[in-house]
Amino acid sequence: MSTTWLPLPDDSPFGAHNLPYGVFTAADRPGRRRVGVRIGDLVLDAGAAARAVGEPSDLLAAENLNPLMASGRSSWTAVRTALTSWLTDQAHRAAVEPCLLDLAEVELHLPFEVADYVDFYASEHHATNLGKILRPGQEPLTPNWKHLPIGYHGRSGTVVVSGTPVTRPHGQRKAPADAAPSFGPSRRLDIEAEVAFVVGTPSPMGTPVALADFAEHVFGVCLLNDWSARDIQGWEYVPLGPFLGKSFATSLSPWVVPLDALRHARIEPPVREVEPLPYLDDRKSEPWGLDLAMEVVLNGHTVSRPPFATMYWTAAQQLAHLTANGASLRTGDLYASGTVSGPEPDTRGALIELTWNGEQPITLPDGTSRTFLEDGDEVAITATAPGPGGLRVGFGEVTGRITG
Ligand code: MN
Repeated sequence: MSTTWLPLPDDSPFGAHNLPYGVFTAADRPGRRRVGVRIGDLVLDAGAAARAVGEPSDLLAAENLNPLMASGRSSWTAVRTALTSWLTDQAHRAAVEPCLLDLAEVELHLPFEVADYVDFYASEHHATNLGKILRPGQEPLTPNWKHLPIGYHGRSGTVVVSGTPVTRPHGQRKAPADAAPSFGPSRRLDIEAEVAFVVGTPSPMGTPVALADFAEHVFGVCLLNDWSARDIQGWEYVPLGPFLGKSFATSLSPWVVPLDALRHARIEPPVREVEPLPYLDDRKSEPWGLDLAMEVVLNGHTVSRPPFATMYWTAAQQLAHLTANGASLRTGDLYASGTVSGPEPDTRGALIELTWNGEQPITLPDGTSRTFLEDGDEVAITATAPGPGGLRVGFGEVTGRITG
């Protein structure tokens, strides 16, 4: 493991073992979007650093990560190796140090142009809880749940970067006891704490992506908040699934953690009681369970610690399923895990579960209580993963504040 020449704390989750990518603007070149790499609480202007050390800068001098993401796995490894060298080899220090900016002085943007967006439903605990809440008295998991990773196509145009205010959506709401629907602001606005996977290498139409090719296509990992209006969703979702209750906003963390930084986070997923069909069967190769420790913070108060390690379906299985019908991949495709909920009540990744459909409000330190989100509420989702030598890999956070 290489150590940076920067004066970082030894246990920084943003040391040279991580090096997530983002896109920023800063006052020294107003309006000019640049590729940045986070180290500690600094941002390396990656294109400027490449020029300063005299190495090729095309992929890093772009306005977003799309050219780098499209360049493929061997290029990703080469760029990461170069960045590691620039930030750890004293020989590069004089050239590279002037290319560092304070994180507090940059504005972060969506790091890539989002192509298609898909959201899955891969936590058995979440799906079971939702089944009990929404379909009481019935089997909580639908008959297909353990045979395929359930998902839906979302709205990529409303994926926004962390920190973007979220306007409370209006829509048709109808509680089961209401005689007729009414139109107005959602009264049951919720979060979903999720992990998102960013596709770099495209695939042609008609060619499914095999489980083993996951790392050839997926560039990196972010955190995602799938804001959900439960009252709108509850009335509209039968029979075609989520629509306007989800499509008003989806927030994404600004730093894309490279898959290469997560080697130490790989674990076995939970035992599957149902034998997967061959295209989803990951038992003969090293599977892609990931041991991310997540935290959901409401107005500064931690309300949940969802364990990503408990997810039933892996991101590799989700990608294989997403393309099993021959659907193509494009650079910038984004797919999310589904709400991450663990087995314990304080590990649930959505308010509908944490408050059991609003029946058990959460009390906050300021003495107020919550069932669903109120105007002015701010939600932050953070995560870290195991890194080399006992270090943690930081994901930063995805935040959003509700405005009326
Ligand atoms: Mn979701």
